[in-house]
Amino acid sequence: MDKNKGRVKTNDGDDKVRRTRRPAKKRVCEYCQGHIERVDYKDVERLKKYTAENGKILPRRATGLCAEHQRDVTTAIKRARVMALLPFRGE
Ligand SMILES: [Zn+2]
Repeated sequence: MDKNKGRVKTNDGDDKVRRTRRPAKKRVCEYCQGHIERVDYKDVERLKKYTAENGKILPRRATGLCAEHQRDVTTAIKRARVMALLPFRGE
């Protein structure tokens, strides 16, 4: 194994440790993959996965959803909140 992995030699000679960027894991949007056309606000179990413990909607980098479905999920979560299916804040 290469000991210097993750280290970048700088021009001034010192061996600074710099974290190399790990290539992002290929994640496919669950809705695209599952061929679920519509994001249902009544599907609380599924929507719960896209909210943090404090009730916040997770950002796309955390959900791995595509832009369209992230938008739909956001709307669905907001709808579910109004319908009191999901909490606005915490639990
Ligand atoms: Zn998608």
